[in-house]
Amino acid sequence: MYDIIIIGAGPAGLTAGIYALRANLKVLIIEKESIGGQISTSPLVENYPGYKSISGLELSNSMYEQYNALGGELEVDEVTKIKKDDDFTVTTEYDEYRAKSIIIATGAKHRHLNIDREEEFIGKGLSYCATCDGAFFKDKIVAVIGGASTAVTSAIYLSNIAKKVYLIYRKSKLKCEDILKTRLDKLENVEIIYNSEVTKLIGKDVIEGLVLNDSDTIEVDGVFVSIGMEPNTKFVEGLIPITEDNYIDSLDTKTNIEGIFVAGDVRKKDLRQLTTAVSDGSLAATYAIDYIRSTK
Ligand SMILES: Cc1cc2nc3c(=O)[nH]c(=O)nc-3n(C[C@H](O)[C@H](O)[C@H](O)COP(=O)(O)OP(=O)(O)OC[C@H]3O[C@@H](n4cnc5c(N)ncnc54)[C@H](O)[C@@H]3O)c2cc1C
Repeated sequence: MYDIIIIGAGPAGLTAGIYALRANLKVLIIEKESIGGQISTSPLVENYPGYKSISGLELSNSMYEQYNALGGELEVDEVTKIKKDDDFTVTTEYDEYRAKSIIIATGAKHRHLNIDREEEFIGKGLSYCATCDGAFFKDKIVAVIGGASTAVTSAIYLSNIAKKVYLIYRKSKLKCEDILKTRLDKLENVEIIYNSEVTKLIGKDVIEGLVLNDSDTIEVDGVFVSIGMEPNTKFVEGLIPITEDNYIDSLDTKTNIEGIFVAGDVRKKDLRQLTTAVSDGSLAATYAIDYIRSTK
C-alpha cells in the first residue's frame, strides 16, 4: 500500500512526488510515456526562474533525479481506472496498485495540425505555446493558427514582440470574446486571414513559410499552432466531474472526492506553464499529506 500514487511524471507530478517524499511518505508515480511530460520535448526553456536558458529535457531530467534521489518509485504503465473503496485502487494496463491518496497530474496535449513535416519543425520555428516561445521571434514575422480565444490571445501577445503577425483561421468569423476581437482590431501589425487552412509547411532546416489552401504561400519565421488542447482525463470519467472541454475543474487542487487531488495542465486554469504546474504539484501534495495524516 502506497501513501500516495501520483499519475503522470510531468513537472506537476514530479514536484508533488518531491514534496510527499520529503514528508516521509511512500510514493509511487505511474507514467505512461516519458518522464518529464510535455517539457521534455522542448529544446529551450527561458522562463523558468533560476535558469536563464535550459533544454526541457535537462530540466525534467533534473526534476526526476531529485525525485529518485529521495527514494521515489516509478512505474511505466498507463492508468486506466481509479476506484474508491476503503482507500483507492488504481488499475493500469498491466497491474493494480493500492494507495491512501491519489494525485492526478496527467497533463494535456496540444492538438496538432497533422500535416507533413510538423514534428520535424517543432522547436525549429514551430511552437504550440506563444508564452513559452514568443520571445524567440522579436521583430520577426509569425503566424498563429487558430481562431478561438487562445489563438487570439496569442496573436495579441505576439504583436508586442514580432514585427508582423498573421492570424490564420479556417472559418469566416473568429470564435473569441468580443473584447479580444476589439483589441485585436486595433493592432496595426496583425493581419487576419479567414477561410484558410495550412496545407503545407515550407523550409529547409527551419520554418520559412506556409502554404494556405494548397495555393497561396506566405513567408514566416515562426508558426504558433493554437487549435486547442486535449487533457488526459478519460480514465476519470464517471468518477470526477470534467468540464465540457475535458479538464478537471478545481479551484485549489482538491476534487469532489476526498483523498483525490489534481495538479498541472489537466486542471481548468488560465495559464498552463511550468511555474503553474509545479505550484499545483506542491499544493496538491501538501493537501494529500494533510489528508493522510488526518485519516490515520
Ligand atoms: C513543446 C513545448 C514547449 C513548452 N515550453 C514551455 C516553456 O518554455 N515554459 C513553460 O513554462 N512551459 C512550457 N510548456 C508547457 C509545459 O510543458 C507544461 O505546462 C507542463 O509540462 C505541464 O506539466 P504537467 O505535469 O501538468 O503535465 P505534462 O507535462 O503534460 O505531464 C503529464 C504526464 O502524465 C502522463 N500521463 C497522461 N495520462 C496518463 C495515464 N493515464 N497514466 C499514466 N500517465 C499518464 C503523460 O504521459 C505525461 O508525461 C511547453 C510545452 C510544450 C509541449
